[in-house]
Formats: sequence, structure tokens, C-alpha cells
Amino acid sequence: MRRLTKLIHGGVAGDPHTGAVSVPIYQASTYKQEEPGVHRGYEYARTGNPTRHALEELIRDLEEGERGFAFASGMAAITAVLTLFASGDHIIINDDVYGGTFRIATKVMNRLDIEANFVDTTDLEAAERAIRPNTKALFIETPTNPLLKVTDIAAAAAWAKSHGLLLIVDNTFSTPYWQNPIPLGADIVIHSATKYLGGHSDVVAGLAVVNDSVLGERLHFIQNATGGVLGPHDSWLLQRGLKTLGLRMEAHERNAREVVALLEEHPAVKRLYYPGLASHPQHELAKQQARGFGGMVSFDVGSAEKAEELIRKLRYFTLAESLGAVESLISIPARMTHASIPKERREKLGITEGLIRISVGVEDAEDLLEDLAIGLEQ
Ligand SMILES: *Cc1c(COP(=O)(O)O)cnc(C)c1O
Repeated sequence: MRRLTKLIHGGVAGDPHTGAVSVPIYQASTYKQEEPGVHRGYEYARTGNPTRHALEELIRDLEEGERGFAFASGMAAITAVLTLFASGDHIIINDDVYGGTFRIATKVMNRLDIEANFVDTTDLEAAERAIRPNTKALFIETPTNPLLKVTDIAAAAAWAKSHGLLLIVDNTFSTPYWQNPIPLGADIVIHSATKYLGGHSDVVAGLAVVNDSVLGERLHFIQNATGGVLGPHDSWLLQRGLKTLGLRMEAHERNAREVVALLEEHPAVKRLYYPGLASHPQHELAKQQARGFGGMVSFDVGSAEKAEELIRKLRYFTLAESLGAVESLISIPARMTHASIPKERREKLGITEGLIRISVGVEDAEDLLEDLAIGLEQ
């Protein structure tokens, strides 16, 4: 099955009972048993629900893994995956990881004595230096948020394997339409499905896919034991969103290229971050491991005042956290999504006060370009 077809026909197709083309919303918490312990595959909806199951089968197919899981949010998915580890374990995480992942690693998992340290994984030698006898996994996001740094997934997988570590990849920014970490060697793929997969700023959800059945059993045990499952209605909304993922990602990418071309030439833009730029430090790698560069663009206008002024003038870029939806969104990471990261750490990473992140939507490119040109006028 090719990629656009898989978005429509992957997973579970329709409803076997009625022929309904769309998987129904099974709004049921429990299921009748014929005799104690004898049921049709479902007993209680935290353990399994047919609407959620259809979504889990779909994301498994899209990520080319062995088993998929749907959670109540991206953070619930990340929490469940981190719960695979035990007290005394250590994991290595990329240094500009999503703020929520940084927070749970440093404020929650640390209390369970699961330790993490943060390194620039674009350089695997930095990961090598961070390894300890109790290291169990390498967790990477690629491209990262908001500086769009790219880690070599195949090289990270080979390195992780040589040390007996699991490789976990947060694939939120690329989506399975552009990038599939499992065929490149990753063990677990995570998504904040709240972003591109849902795509319409109306669902909070998380997904995880594992590459083997033993890991699948372990993660299902944790999903059922900790209970952060996605409800049937949100599972249905995500399946609806996923059908158009390919169309949307192509449109995001087309618009992002135009936006980048405008920003690249503009004197008010001090720095520009986009993996599709030939000047991006990992451009060749991005081209090789992904089929597209995505719709996220970051740029630095030099100061907090200039960033604020730009944002005030825009009509079509909504000032909001989150990303990956049909509408263009704009944010100042240092004051919004990354505000929970200590200032010195932020500055060290390059997340300055003048850094602006945009999630390019699928509006007419001309409107977005006109808007940005007005916003950048000084
Ligand atoms: C948003 C996001 C998350 C967290 O997902 P939620 O659905 O908000 O819980 C994790 N990783 C990345 C890269 C994200 O952008």
C-alpha cells in the first residue's frame, strides 16, 4: 500500500457489523461476557475499545511497527513509555527536547529515581560521553522544537543497539507521512497527535508505536495499568484527521517553502531555521532520512520588542502555543512553550527572546506572505 492509500485504508476499515464506511464511535465502557472470561475481544474499555483499537492499528501501519497505542495526550504517551524504565535506570535525551518532556524527566521521573541527562544528539559522540553503566535508552526528537536540529536516526539506532539501549523517537514534527523512524532502526516512536496528526486544533492525544511484540506487551500492560487512554470520540476525530494527513503535509510544506524564501531575503531576519534550507547544518541528512522538511519555521528578529511588534501586526498567524494545524500559528518560545526551561539553559540552546516560531498553515500562501511582509516592516 502506498502512503496516501495507507492513510485511507490502513488499520481497520469501516464497521463489520453495519458496513458503515467510517469506524463507529463505540461509546461503551464495558462489554457483555457470554460466560465469565468469555468475550469477543473486549471486556473493559480502559483495556481496549474498538474505536481506539482501529486508531492504534492505523498508527501501527503508518509507522511500520508491530503494535500501536493511543493515549490521552502526547505527555501521557511519553509518561507511559518512560514508565517502561525502573528505579536506578538512566536515559539520554536530546538537549532541546520539548519542554514537557524536559519537565517530566527532571521533575517527575527523577523522583522515581529514573535519571536523565541532556546532550546535543546531532553529535553522537556527546551521547557516547554521557553513557553510564545504567543507561537504558536514547530519547530523541528530530527535527527538534523550536530550532529544528536534526539527529541521524539510523546512526543513533546503530549506536543505541551497540550499547544495548532502546532508541525512542518523538516523531511529532515530521509525522509518519514524511519520516518513519522504525524502519531506520528505532524501537519506539511517539507522537503528540494533538499536532499534525489531528491537524485541526481540536483534539489532545498521544500515540506510541513499538517495533516488537514483547515491547508491545509491556507497553500494553502499562497503558492498561496506568490508564491514560484516549477516549472513543477523540480516537474517531484522530482517524478523521489522519485521512487528510498527506494532503495537509504537502500543503504545509509548499507554504513553508514560500515563507522561508521570503524570510531568507528579509533584512529584519537575523537567523533562520528550516531543515529544507541548503544552509541548515543537517540539510543533507534531513533530505536523506525524511521525505519532506515539514511546516515548522523559526527565525530570530533580534529582540523581544521586535518579536512582539511583529506578532501584533499579523492577521492570519494566530498567537498560540501548539502547532501542526490547518491555521497558521505563531509563538515566542522563550515566553510561551519553553518558558518552563530556566533562562540560562534556554539561552545556551539558542532559544533567545527574539526567536519566533511559526507553524505554517494551509491558507493561501499569498495571504501569509503579505501578512509577514507587513509584520516585518520596521
Ligand atoms: C506537543 C508536544 C508534545 C506533548 O504533547 P501533548 O499532546 O501536548 O501532551 C510532545 N512532543 C512534542 C515534540 C510536542 O510538540
